[in-house]
Amino acid sequence: MELVFATHNQNKFREVKGLLPGHISLLSLKDIGCSHEIPETEDTLEGNALLKAKHVSDHHGYPCFADDTGLLVDALNGAPGVHSARYAGAQKSAEDNMDKLLKALKGKHRTAQFKTVIALKKGTENQLFTGIVKGQITPEKHGRRGFGYDPIFRPEGYDKTFAELPLAEKNRISHRGRAIQHLITYLKTQG
Ligand code: IMP
Repeated sequence: MELVFATHNQNKFREVKGLLPGHISLLSLKDIGCSHEIPETEDTLEGNALLKAKHVSDHHGYPCFADDTGLLVDALNGAPGVHSARYAGAQKSAEDNMDKLLKALKGKHRTAQFKTVIALKKGTENQLFTGIVKGQITPEKHGRRGFGYDPIFRPEGYDKTFAELPLAEKNRISHRGRAIQHLITYLKTQG
């Protein structure tokens, strides 16, 4: 079965391609001639993931899945959440986003979670798969691996941030890794 992963992020694409069962032929947006930004205008992770998957299915006619991720901080009522990429502004700077978050959390509880939602659109069928990892926002940045908020997120049960863990270990326990595993389990049952 041909299935599109609606992302322009080549690292994410390669990671997921290597995990899927043999009967799935994974196509990128480039493979189907879709080079434009797909709108992310909903105010929930679920809404955005579904919007992206629907966009590809409606405009290109392929079964498709798309993901959306946010960092939800308890003391900030779930912010930055769906706005995680642009928390400190449209330039999407990871350093500025982390600095803004560290400032907002001074003297507050530091529990948080990363959440990934994957939406699968196959004909009239819509399915959602969710992956969550709980943890703490550290008072300072630690580590150089990864991206985004990795240097200030310490997953539960670890004494290191995501940016200090080897990538394979992060992928094993991460929000995205968990959501992808749910998707894969589902696709394997589809034959
Ligand atoms: P996206 O939906 O995967 O593009 O993620 C939205 C934003 O959430 C990213 O721009 C990052 O700021 C943040 N984010 C997503 N996944 C991670 C992660 O694994 N580590 C750190 N930050 C992440």
